[in-house]
Amino acid sequence: MQTAGQILQLIRNGTCRTRKELIAYTGLSRSTITERVDRLIEAGYIHETGVASSGGGRPSSVLAIDSTSRLVLVADLGATHARAALTDLTARPIAEEYIEMRIELGPEPVLSWVRQAFQRLLDKTGHSPAEVCGIGLDLPGSVDHTSGRLIRSFLMPGWDDHPIAEVMRRSFDVPILVENDAKAMALGEWWSSWRSCPALVLIKVSTGIGAGIIVDGQIYRGVEQAAGNIGHVRLREGDDRVCTCGSRGCVASLASGQALAADLGVATSRDVVRLVQAGDPEAIALTQEAGRTLGIVLATAVSLLNPGVLVLAGDMAETREHYLTGIRESIYRRSLPYTTRNLDIVTSTLAGNAAITGTAVLVMEHILSPTTVDSSLP
Ligand SMILES: [Zn+2]
Repeated sequence: MQTAGQILQLIRNGTCRTRKELIAYTGLSRSTITERVDRLIEAGYIHETGVASSGGGRPSSVLAIDSTSRLVLVADLGATHARAALTDLTARPIAEEYIEMRIELGPEPVLSWVRQAFQRLLDKTGHSPAEVCGIGLDLPGSVDHTSGRLIRSFLMPGWDDHPIAEVMRRSFDVPILVENDAKAMALGEWWSSWRSCPALVLIKVSTGIGAGIIVDGQIYRGVEQAAGNIGHVRLREGDDRVCTCGSRGCVASLASGQALAADLGVATSRDVVRLVQAGDPEAIALTQEAGRTLGIVLATAVSLLNPGVLVLAGDMAETREHYLTGIRESIYRRSLPYTTRNLDIVTSTLAGNAAITGTAVLVMEHILSPTTVDSSLP
């Protein structure tokens, strides 16, 4: 049986454009299709956008998603920044706000900024909270996607087990999704540039190192939702640098933006980017070397998953390809040519907007899923 929610998927993914095509594809009667399409139109999920000329017979109206009838609020929280955006149902930003803010301030001040920024975005664009159908947040830590709680983050002391979704729901009574930032970025990159690719890996290298994996258009989370936690793979047990996790020799303590900043005697990974962009030879050499070091771990990931795309994101994606060059060298040297024959190793095209886009896509997929749509219809 095809429910109204399932009919919506056929329209969304382009399988059917008109009522006539829906009847032919599903085998349902004209009256059933008419009734379901009418309910979807009435609820504002779809609208008629024009007419399709068919070979003879009456021309029929083209049905499409009505992306403006529902709004999504998203926030991207990094170690040192926060970004909030209002988007439509195609993940297109309508308005945005950005602030330099340290996430280690703790959940109260950070989430309070998010709630106020959301309200300002609505006020500024003349929309009301009633038009918001869902909210998404992404964070630099391991997240329990189901409960919307933070499991663990070495960058977010004071946030452990904080009920982020519950706190946000006090201000906005809509579905609230919380996701790890690298996973959200991976979904954003896949959605905007690589939708025909069945397997994509995104590596975020800023203060720390994280990865997101997209398989068949879905975020791969793993059993403990800890998939992609590659920053703490131990490469050099005897190394004297202590990682944020307390161990020694983690790839994050050797190749993250923070590790490079320490080696170069500057404060943050942004400072490393500035040195590389200014052509500092030592910064360039160390950045390439860090890319080669992370590439050792990534060669294993590539051999295991055989992705079509590996995207470098985060601050190190802005090092004029020096970090990327190091990654490429290690991966090609350590993998079978057969595995990397169709592998694109690229920098992020969305840059700072990858996480916002991915988080908006996550909310959109939830709101437009057959289950959510069917339960929302009268
Ligand atoms: Zn570690």
